[in-house]
Amino acid sequence: MATAVYPGSFDPVTLGHLDLVQRACRIFDHVIVAVSNNHSKKHTFSAAERIEMLKNAVRDIPQAEVDTFSGLLVEYLKTKKATTVIRGLRAVSDLEYEFQLASMNRRLYPRTETIFLMPDEQYTYLSSSMVKEVGRMGSALDGMVSPFVAKKLRLKFKIRR
Ligand code: ADP
Repeated sequence: MATAVYPGSFDPVTLGHLDLVQRACRIFDHVIVAVSNNHSKKHTFSAAERIEMLKNAVRDIPQAEVDTFSGLLVEYLKTKKATTVIRGLRAVSDLEYEFQLASMNRRLYPRTETIFLMPDEQYTYLSSSMVKEVGRMGSALDGMVSPFVAKKLRLKFKIRR
């Protein structure tokens, strides 16, 4: 069975992330969406909240599984007996960071292959941080996140609507 791991912060999961999960599931039998729980990075949502939102997002995708990991991604890959990493490329601006990350992972664990997927055009401008900025201002988030995530954002930012 071909397994791929899609790691990320997912703080919170957007429809752009979900578009990637759907694409990855057309290529791989099993896709593990792995929420990084790295304490050095400051997140808006706790790992438990991020996992809850992801589980809700992929509930109708049987090949997708949600998990969490802390520490190095390559160590997590080994525990899952996986060597394929999925990452997304929205624009050229993503490339530098993604290139560094993929190169480092391959250096640490040479069997690692990173596959980059492009989201549907409508999601190329979407990021978790942008969604949080818009959500904080109380704007509607239709077409950017699921209604479930939009509600969690409203609760987080104490916006009554
Ligand atoms: P990280 O902190 O690891 O970058 P993110 O949740 O921000 O975590 O992103 C995880 C991966 O998903 C990254 O490869 C990122 O480029 C990709 N990604 C984020 N938003 C989108 C989007 N709208 N469309 C496609 N890929 C995306």
